[in-house]
Amino acid sequence: MRIGIGYDVHRLEEGKKLVIGGVEVPFDKGLKGHSDGDVLIHALIDAILGAAGLGDIGEHFPDTDPAYKGIDSKLLLKKTMELVVSRYNISNVDCVIVAEKPRLSPYKGKIKTSLAQLMGIGEDRINIKAKTEEGLGFTGKEEGIKAYAVVLLEERVLT
Ligand code: MG
Repeated sequence: MRIGIGYDVHRLEEGKKLVIGGVEVPFDKGLKGHSDGDVLIHALIDAILGAAGLGDIGEHFPDTDPAYKGIDSKLLLKKTMELVVSRYNISNVDCVIVAEKPRLSPYKGKIKTSLAQLMGIGEDRINIKAKTEEGLGFTGKEEGIKAYAVVLLEERVLT
């Protein structure tokens, strides 16, 4: 078994779509980023790479590379899975999204389904939590959204 942790932050700005875990969430602001700013998928990618001992998202998909400008983070998650799937099974994934607004609780089910499909695993292996920050800090002041993810990988037994 190998465990990995991931964390990411993106700034909220007007005139962008808000995409979290591959799910579009109706809101008057979205997340700024070189890619589509999907903060949850970025944290999850770092957790997967960390568990596999493969570095981090910036090494695999550098934000200096024009190839990744505006890219759909769902594709990055699929590419990340391709890096680990021959050697590991995903045992389980646990995530926390921290956002004062919008309230993300109603979207937890959709986000779980989205991630399960992208990762090719059962929804029972994924847990999503949505928290507010009680008005404190940059998340509490609605300047940004952050996400944490933990992934447990199980090495495949070769027969
Ligand atoms: Mg990011």
